[in-house]
Amino acid sequence: MFSERILMQFPRELVNEPLLSIVTKEFDIVFNIISARITENEEGQLKVELRGKRPNVLAAVDYIKKKGVSIRSLSKFVTVDRKLCTDCGACVVQCPTGALYYEEDLSVGFDAAKCIACELCRLACPYSAIVVAHADEVTHV
Ligand code: SF4
Ligand code: SF4
Repeated sequence: MFSERILMQFPRELVNEPLLSIVTKEFDIVFNIISARITENEEGQLKVELRGKRPNVLAAVDYIKKKGVSIRSLSKFVTVDRKLCTDCGACVVQCPTGALYYEEDLSVGFDAAKCIACELCRLACPYSAIVVAHADEVTHV
């Protein structure tokens, strides 16, 4: 069973939306709430673990994001090693969320806020320029 720990940040207008209940039914997954809090500006912050078949968990994350919730993976962090990257674009076509994209000058950009750590880019990169670290390996985040 695939498991993904994420930090969900709900804008004020979505705090009362039962999104987790919806995705558990829609995508046949289960969730475990790690922590929950309301920030000073009344936004909701929820740390959860989602479990289920990998495509279902990823689809659920995508669904929640499309509803306007900001999501960050707590399990893995993806970065692009600019010293190794040749801007070949092989990762861009694989990225399901638009986290990897072309800049105006056709160099490859990376938006960590959109990344769901699916690692398709790592598999596609011929230069090993995609670095995936697990949360307990990352000390600066
Ligand atoms: S890990 Fe997945 S979502 Fe993140 S940049 Fe790579 S392909 Fe895109
Ligand atoms: S596939 Fe690798 S080398 Fe090519 S643009 Fe993506 S990160 Fe850079």
